[in-house]
Formats: sequence, C-alpha cells, structure tokens
Amino acid sequence: MTPLLPSPQHYLYNLITMTSPDAKRLWRRAIKEHFNCTCVYCGNNYEIHELTLDHVKPKTNGGEDLTSNLVPACRACNQGKGSSHWLGWMRQTYGRNPRREQLILNHIN
Ligand SMILES: [Zn+2]
Repeated sequence: MTPLLPSPQHYLYNLITMTSPDAKRLWRRAIKEHFNCTCVYCGNNYEIHELTLDHVKPKTNGGEDLTSNLVPACRACNQGKGSSHWLGWMRQTYGRNPRREQLILNHIN
C-alpha cells in the first residue's frame, strides 16, 4: 500500500520518490487504494486503472489539487457530476446514502 499523503509534493519531501511525475503517480494511486478502488459516488468496485480522480469541489469553483479534494470516481460518475455540487448530484442520482456521504465528508473535512 502506498501511504496517503496530503499532496504530490509530500511524496518528494518524505523521500518516498525522487521525481515529480513519480510523486504524482504514487499520489493518485494512494487515493484510489485508500477507497479500495471503489467509486465513492456509485459505490461500485473497479480496476485501479479504470478509476478517475474527481475534484469534489470542482476546479472551476476553486477546488484544489489536494488529497482532501480528490476522490476516486468511475468515468460515468465523474462525467455525470460535472461541476455540480457533489451531494446534490449524488442524492439526485443515487438517492440518500448516509454511509457513502459520510465517507466523503470524512475525507474532505
Ligand atoms: Zn461511479
């Protein structure tokens, strides 16, 4: 398991890797592994390479490239959510799911 750190830079600071592309690659993998390769929105399991990383708060709304703003999402969910607010979109699409909502809240807070 790759340790989950707050940003790609932390993989360099902590000497887990020496190059920036490698840091980014490890970071992206760590986020997916942290959620057991599950899409946080629909709850389905995927192969690690099938998952995308979704900005919970969209970049267009000022969302940052930090672990606390990134979650694994399948392509369908990532595209479907677009720049909508995650909770509104998730409830509208999949109904209420307190367990999954809490999982995301714990990650972003
Ligand atoms: Zn999904």
